[in-house]
Formats: sequence, structure tokens, C-alpha cells
Amino acid sequence: MFTKILIANRGEIACRVAATARRMGIRTVAVYSEADANAKHVAVCDEAVLIGPAAAKESYLCGDKIIAVALATGAEAIHPGYGFLSENAEFADACAEVGLVFIGPPGSAMRAMGSKSAAKSLMEKANVPLVPGYHGDEQDPDFLQKQGDRIGYPVLLKASAGGGGKGMRVIEKSEDFKAALASCKREAISSFGDDKVLAEKYLLRPRHIEIQVFADTHGNCVYLHERDCSVQRRHQKVLEEAPAPGMSPERRAAMGEAAVAAARAVGYVGAGTVEFIANQDGSFYFMEMNTRLQVEHPVTEMITGTDLVEWQLRVANGQPLPKKQAELGIHGHAIEARIYAENPEKGFLPSIGTLRHMDTPGAVSFELGGTPGGSPAAVRIDSGVREGDAISPFYDPMIAKLIVWGADRTQALARMSQALAEFQIVGLATNIAFLKRLVEGAAFATADLDTGLIERNGDTLFPLPKAAPVGALALAAVALTSAEKQASIGQSHNRADPWGNALGWRLNSAYQRQLSFTDEYSAAKEGKGYNVGLTYRPHGWDLTVNGIDAELAVTAQNGAELSITLGATSIHGAVRVDGDTFHVFTGGRHFVLVYNDPMAHAGEAEAAGGRLTAPMPGKVVAVLATKGQQVKKGDPLVIMEAMKMEHTIGAPSDGLVEEILYQVGDQVADGAPLLAFKAA
Ligand code: ADP
Ligand code: ADP
Ligand code: MG
Repeated sequence: MFTKILIANRGEIACRVAATARRMGIRTVAVYSEADANAKHVAVCDEAVLIGPAAAKESYLCGDKIIAVALATGAEAIHPGYGFLSENAEFADACAEVGLVFIGPPGSAMRAMGSKSAAKSLMEKANVPLVPGYHGDEQDPDFLQKQGDRIGYPVLLKASAGGGGKGMRVIEKSEDFKAALASCKREAISSFGDDKVLAEKYLLRPRHIEIQVFADTHGNCVYLHERDCSVQRRHQKVLEEAPAPGMSPERRAAMGEAAVAAARAVGYVGAGTVEFIANQDGSFYFMEMNTRLQVEHPVTEMITGTDLVEWQLRVANGQPLPKKQAELGIHGHAIEARIYAENPEKGFLPSIGTLRHMDTPGAVSFELGGTPGGSPAAVRIDSGVREGDAISPFYDPMIAKLIVWGADRTQALARMSQALAEFQIVGLATNIAFLKRLVEGAAFATADLDTGLIERNGDTLFPLPKAAPVGALALAAVALTSAEKQASIGQSHNRADPWGNALGWRLNSAYQRQLSFTDEYSAAKEGKGYNVGLTYRPHGWDLTVNGIDAELAVTAQNGAELSITLGATSIHGAVRVDGDTFHVFTGGRHFVLVYNDPMAHAGEAEAAGGRLTAPMPGKVVAVLATKGQQVKKGDPLVIMEAMKMEHTIGAPSDGLVEEILYQVGDQVADGAPLLAFKAA
């Protein structure tokens, strides 16, 4: 076996490969860009070498630099992960030329499958079923339109060199053909440097079902069953599961054998995935082959009790496949959810920022390489980031993959829903709440699957915001008073002044106060907040909110974890405080409540030297204030943009704009002062 390998990737896949290598006693070399100096994958590998600036083109995509590092560090093989260089045949060949083992298929197999059109021609010869369409070389627009008419609408145009859901156009009628073709070719040339397209029948309500295949250098090739990846947004996978609901043993064998035939047709070696598009009646067609490990490979590992990275290493080392087809059973059911830093409500736009807080569900470790029959752990998390790490604009915004196993689909679903409820992230927008609605929604729960599931269920997946429940407000209020208590203890310690604290008691009468919180829902209602009245009592408070009066008491508190009683109701939750923002996690939900402290903003502006700072790295897209202007609290001053999202910086109080430090178009670092401001 190898004694040292280089991992030519970053994030969760680099960490995941490193975990298997470590278990097998293989040393690992990480490569990293300037943006990743403190990244998790650097920490988990035995050695790490800087290869260039943040931009992938100057670092993770530089095959020659990576090969040089492998040679210099004495690595014998390179694992490319997925993305980046994993499907780059020239890179695989370049490794071979200098005597390094590329852990993946031979360059020739990658080239054969690299063009969707050429791959379809090969598959036709290997008798693998194809979607009716045209995948030839002729690219004349009139000719292609005739092909579209022959296929029958709707027709799908795809970039032959495409991937990642890019460069696809659905055409509903012949008149729209030419315009769609032109725009498809534009996207294809800009994304893949090749404007060749293919046309095929656009299937209605199809499922995406793919087969994991594995081949060795001794002529063995097996399939490790299927994954259903029908739940997609913008033709990209969101949830993946194995086995596919409703799959019959006969259909499974037919698809598995077709996938093995596809792999054999190109002389495949290593891990690969043959993607099929399937009709609701079960008929299926070849779509493409991904010549690498797939993001969703863990669901296959869970149901087959294998470690696919170990298999990759063995095969690359010249060993035969560890198992024969007949030894590959299916044990239970596994589901994966991709947790992204993104905003589902805003068209799934990526969100960047720092993971200020990350709490992952318990029972994390999954025994890689466990055998079927031995129960895998219920929950596995593959992540490339830790609390305090940043999701930068340079790479994929994936935070983690959450994978659960159950004895059957019902149990796996319940575990997924529970694990999502326990996943707490503060600092950037995530799709966690969306995923929870998705797995709990009727369509997914009843396995009514097809690639349009998310679009079709928009009403339930994107509900209108609702008012925060009293329980969440009560938790926020309790967290606020304990934060004040902490602060005042600090102060009185410093100043030795027991009367200067902010504790809510008075000598003779019960102290009363009004707290105001806002959230997305209340802000939409003319900026009106929630008014929470607190009357301090010896063992708690009387709480008044929305016309409800109830006794409030704390029964347990452990850091951010709180148990309270509100009248006769017991409520449990965690409150993470981030400045004025109270992130309340309770009942499996995440409420973002902003405390409107009349004192805080003036103080903040002072503390920051009267400067307003950028909340994230990004570009200034508008400057709305002028030097010397008097503004009112909340007036928009500057608009910034990062990853296509806009963020408005408003006046923290009434005051004067003394100086403007950036102009439209300027790039601004996180925390940089944007303007000098003097509170009135
Ligand atoms: P899958 O079908 O396994 O999701 P994709 O083709 O969507 O495969 O891409 C696999 C993963 O690799 C995705 O997470 C994607 O974001 C990442 N990826 C693809 N290309 C690149 C690249 N050039 N740089 C960084 N990551 C990439
Ligand atoms: P990519 O290289 O971007 O992964 P694929 O060819 O694998 O491209 O297709 C991606 C997704 O697009 C599929 O998972 C499916 O949702 C959809 N799709 C592809 N071909 C068809 C088709 N003929 N009819 C309907 N949907 C399709
Ligand atoms: Mg695909």
C-alpha cells in the first residue's frame, strides 16, 4: 500500500479522504491556497503546502504546482476528490508521466465520458438505453431545430462539455428553439470553453437515479446499487438517498448491469457513477457518467458497509476489488442532506461570512468500513469547516453533509428530521430550515419523487414568515437579562460599585421594564417590534406579551442552553447572542430576534471611533449619503454586495455623516470602516 498520498482538494472531501488514509496508516499531504491557511483540511493532514492565491485557477486548479508538491514531499499518489482536477484527463496523464499514481480512472476513460455527446454514442454501441435525441457533430441551427421538431417538445438542450447543472435550456415549442440555442451556446462557451450542444427529449416528472460502479485493474467491475438524487434545485442535488424508494430487484439488476456495461465500454478503473434519468414507470435512460467519487457517496457506504475511499486506494494500488457482486447487499436506508451557506428564500443565493457558532447533532462518528449486519451509527457529518471558520466567496458554499442511517426509510427520515433540528448555525444564512421542511413535507415523506419536487411544493417549502411564538420571546428575554447580569458583574467588579449594575431589582417596588425585539416578520409590519413586558419577582418575572400574561421562571441554565417555565408550560431551547441579535433555537426551529436597545447604537458608534464598518467583505454598489449630511436613525447610507447579495448599512442613530471613505465599485474588507459618523 502507499505510504504517503497528496490530497489535491480542500473542504469536506479533503478531510474525508484524510480520515480513511489515517485509518489505513497512510500519511497525507494537504495543499492549500492563501484563503485556506487555517482551514480544517490543513489541520487534519500530516503535512501541508501552500500552492497559491485564493482563486482556484491560481491554486487548486494548478496541476503542475500540485504535481511538484507531490514529488517534493515524496507522495506516491494523488487523490483529486471531486470538482477541481478530478475529471481532468490531462492532469491524470501528467501524473502518470512523472510516475505518480492518479487515484481515479485512466485519462482515456475520462476523455471518453468527458463529452456527453461522445459518451452517448459509445453507450449506444454498448446497448445502454438513451433518451431519444440528437448527439451528433452537426451544429447548424436549422439542422438542430429540425432535430428538435423530430424529437418533439419539450426538448432539452445541454452543453456537451457541461456539468453542475450549467448550460441547460428547456424548449417548449419550435418557435423558441433558435433563441434558446443561442443562449445555451453562449453559456457553454463561457463556462466550459466549448459550445457544442446536444438535444434530447425533456422528460416530464423524471427521477434522477444513479448507479455507483467500481472497477479494478484485474477486469472486475461491480455495482454498489443505486442512489436516488431526484430532489434538486436548479438541476443540482439537495437530498440523496439509497436505496431508491420503490426500486424492484429486477430493475436494480437491469440498471446495475447497464452501468457496468457503460464502465466496461470505456475501460473504466476505480470509482465512477453512471447517472440515469428514469420515468415514473421505471423505464430509464443513460444521462452521463461522472468519472470520480461523487458528493453523495456516503449514502452508498452506509447501506453497503463499505469505505469507498479505501476501495479507491486499494484499486489504485493494484489490488483487486474487496468484494464480488454477490457479496454486495443492501442494509437499511440512508439519506444525505447538503447543508449550504445559502438563502433558499432568495433564490438559493450563497451567503458568505463566519461560522460564529456551529453545534452539530450528537452521535457523530460513522464507522467507515463497518460490515453490513453491524449497525452503522445513525448520524454522520462530513464537514470541512469548524466553528470560527469562514465561508469565503472563492469556493463552494457547502458547510457540511449530514448523512443518517435507519433500519428503514421511515426511521432514516425521523433521524434526519431530528438531526436537522439539532444543527445550529449562527453567522450566515443556511438552508437548514428549508431542508427540514423538505424532509418533513408530504412529497418527500411519501417518496413522491421527481426532479420538480421543490418547484411544485413552493407553497409549503417557502411559507410566509409567521409571528415569533411567545416561548421564543421568553427565551430571548431570559437570555438578555442573564447577559446583562454577566456584564454588570464584570462592571461592579471593576468599579466596586454595587449600585451601578444593571440588575433588575429595586428596593421597595417591583421593577418593570419593556423590551422590544424585531424579526423579519415584525419588520415587514411597518417596523413594529414585539413588546415584551417584564416585571421582576423574587424567583422570576411576570411576562406580558401580545396581551398574554404569564409567570416566567428559569429551571435550568447551562451556557446557552435554557429551560424555562411559562405559566404551566415547560420550554427548552438554546440562545446564542451575537451583538444585538438573539438566535433562539427551540422546538427544532431557529428564530432570529434583534433586540432594540435604545442605548446600544449610540454607544457602538462611539466605541468604533464613530466609524461604521463593513459587515462582510464585498463591493460597494451604492453610496446614498453625502459628506456633511444630517441623517435620521435607520436611513440607508451605503449598499454593499457580496456573492450577488445586497446588504444595506443604515444610520445607527440620528447624526452627521462626517466623511465617506469608499466609492461605488470599491472592494472592501470585512470590518473596514465605511464612513465616519457622529451621533447627534
Ligand atoms: P455531483 O453530481 O456529485 O453533485 P457536481 O458536478 O455538481 O457533482 O460537482 C461536484 C462537487 O464539486 C460540487 O460540490 C461542486 O461544487 C464541486 N466543484 C465542481 N467543480 C468545481 C470547481 N471547479 N472548483 C471547486 N469545486 C468544484
Ligand atoms: P450535469 O452534468 O449538469 O450533472 P446532467 O446531464 O447529469 O448534467 O443533468 C443534470 C440534471 O438535469 C438531471 O439530474 C435532471 O434533473 C435534469 N435532466 C437532465 N436530462 C434531462 C432530461 N432529458 N429530461 C428531464 N430532465 C433532465
Ligand atoms: Mg449529472
